[in-house]
Amino acid sequence: MKTGKIIKVAGPLIIADGMSSANLFDVVRVSKLNLIGEIIEMRGDKASIQVYEETSGIGVGDPVYSTGYPLSVELGPGLVSKIYDGIQRPLDLIAAQSGDLVTRGVSVPAIDYEQKWHFIPAVNVNQQVFEGDIIGYVQETVILKHYIMIPPGINGKILSIKEGDFNVKETIAILKSEDGSEINVTMLQKWPVRKSRPYKTKKNPTEPMLTGQRVIDTFFPVAKGGTACVPGPFGSGKTVVQHQLAKWADAEVIVYVGCGERGNEMTDVLLEFPELKDPKSGEPLMKRTILIANTSNMPVAAREASVYTGITIAEYFRDMGYSVALMADSTSRWAEAMREMSGRLEEMPGEEGYPAYLGTRIAEFYERAGKVVTLGSQGKEGSLTVIGAVSPPGGDLSDPVVQATLRVVKVFWSLSSTLAYKRHFPAIDWLTSYTLYDNNIKDWLKKNVADEWSNIKIKAMSILQKESELEEIVRLVGLDALSPENRLFMDTAKSIREDYLHQNAFHEIDTYTSSRKSFNMLSIILYFHDEAMKLAQDNIPIRDIISQQVKDKIARMKYIEESQCDTILSIKNDIDREFKELREKYSA
Ligand code: ADP
Repeated sequence: MKTGKIIKVAGPLIIADGMSSANLFDVVRVSKLNLIGEIIEMRGDKASIQVYEETSGIGVGDPVYSTGYPLSVELGPGLVSKIYDGIQRPLDLIAAQSGDLVTRGVSVPAIDYEQKWHFIPAVNVNQQVFEGDIIGYVQETVILKHYIMIPPGINGKILSIKEGDFNVKETIAILKSEDGSEINVTMLQKWPVRKSRPYKTKKNPTEPMLTGQRVIDTFFPVAKGGTACVPGPFGSGKTVVQHQLAKWADAEVIVYVGCGERGNEMTDVLLEFPELKDPKSGEPLMKRTILIANTSNMPVAAREASVYTGITIAEYFRDMGYSVALMADSTSRWAEAMREMSGRLEEMPGEEGYPAYLGTRIAEFYERAGKVVTLGSQGKEGSLTVIGAVSPPGGDLSDPVVQATLRVVKVFWSLSSTLAYKRHFPAIDWLTSYTLYDNNIKDWLKKNVADEWSNIKIKAMSILQKESELEEIVRLVGLDALSPENRLFMDTAKSIREDYLHQNAFHEIDTYTSSRKSFNMLSIILYFHDEAMKLAQDNIPIRDIISQQVKDKIARMKYIEESQCDTILSIKNDIDREFKELREKYSA
């Protein structure tokens, strides 16, 4: 270990000299208290160190030891269900060691080194294996197989491999490399968090990550391997949206990074997540989830590390061929941590005091999302979808963090406090949200949902847009001044909003809607519209048309069970019958 000495302490930033043999991004231990830090700038033999723990009591002259390694995460069986802090220390172990308040300098292994896992090989002796290849698995939780991969940079022929119970540090296979040397393979890998894990190629995302939330899946879908951003004005239902995604998103592994502003935000997540059940298996959701939580008593610098810790873990599961979703809440807090460190480093500030490299960092982070062909020779595909929440002060979307994020993400779910105030949930504003994946996933939807899917959603959206244009006129001259056709447009838009987009997260059935059911529901609303238009054009009074009984059926479609969702289509017959009767009434 190389040693330097502190020459300055400024909050989470310390400067040490005598560090010439250390490298940028090395992890260091500070003072006798063993605080964990990372070198973020080197000038001559002076290192600027971001410290991930409270620095009070640390002073000039205290020693700094460089470990010679970059900030890394440990990857292997035992990750899933864990709750970590920003530098991958298990919160439960820290609490057990030092009580509820995180004391400083605690060293705990990120994953349990002692626990035995039952390893089942998937390759044979004498087989040639390459970096990234899956050589076996352990059943980590009831719902998740943890595949064991050859770490990047290693290739060779299997000399021995066997089924059995091993801990993560024991050798499960021996390889003979090309140069004849023997390599012991364990189930534990290490990876530096600031470097993305390698893959073979990136592919265009072509499959949607369905969420069971109608407004998202219909109008603003995110692709598997895509990126999305959701701003969260207070009370707009951000937490509910996130829980819904964690529950229902079509992903096999979920990594949730929480950088809460107030301690209690994170406490909510810590209390609520372990309670959530996976709707498909009935098992606790935590069995496919990893939580990274920045508790409020950790300094801001740890937030900066936490998004990297989270995304590296997510990439590791992607490399197994899984579809992984990472949710980061909120990336604004991460950006604020960057701003604070940059200020202390006395860097030239950019917009609103954020460092000039803010945009680059944000872009690099989202760049790590994607659908990839994994490194191994088995040619598996994995995907990492990244959903970042932003919380600009005052909900102001011109905020630099929001702007930098919108430049890189391809989906924007605009949560609106106006809609939330009207109790329209999910409060995703259909007029300001967008997705750029429509073209990518069109074919998939056509094949897996319905030929007509993209047509009907375009039509539904155009009716919603028409409503917003007409609203202005209605405000000025009242609803009665509209033409019958336009009144029908207003009525259909209302139906789309209330009977379709509005979705109650707390209703047993309504909480999740398959795309098949969504398609049926929306088809019926539009069928009603088209048929009603014919009547309106034949001068049948609009109030009669829109007050048909079948409207009740339409309003209750959302409560029809998934298994019965095709019965929704029979509502067409009710519409036909009622409209026929209406026509007869007026022609008599
Ligand atoms: P935020 O996290 O943005 O402050 P929450 O997610 O806690 O807001 O939502 C505030 C309240 O709005 C919730 O307690 C709930 O009553 C209501 N709500 C939000 N989304 C939904 C939804 N999809 N279905 C039903 N109620 C919702």
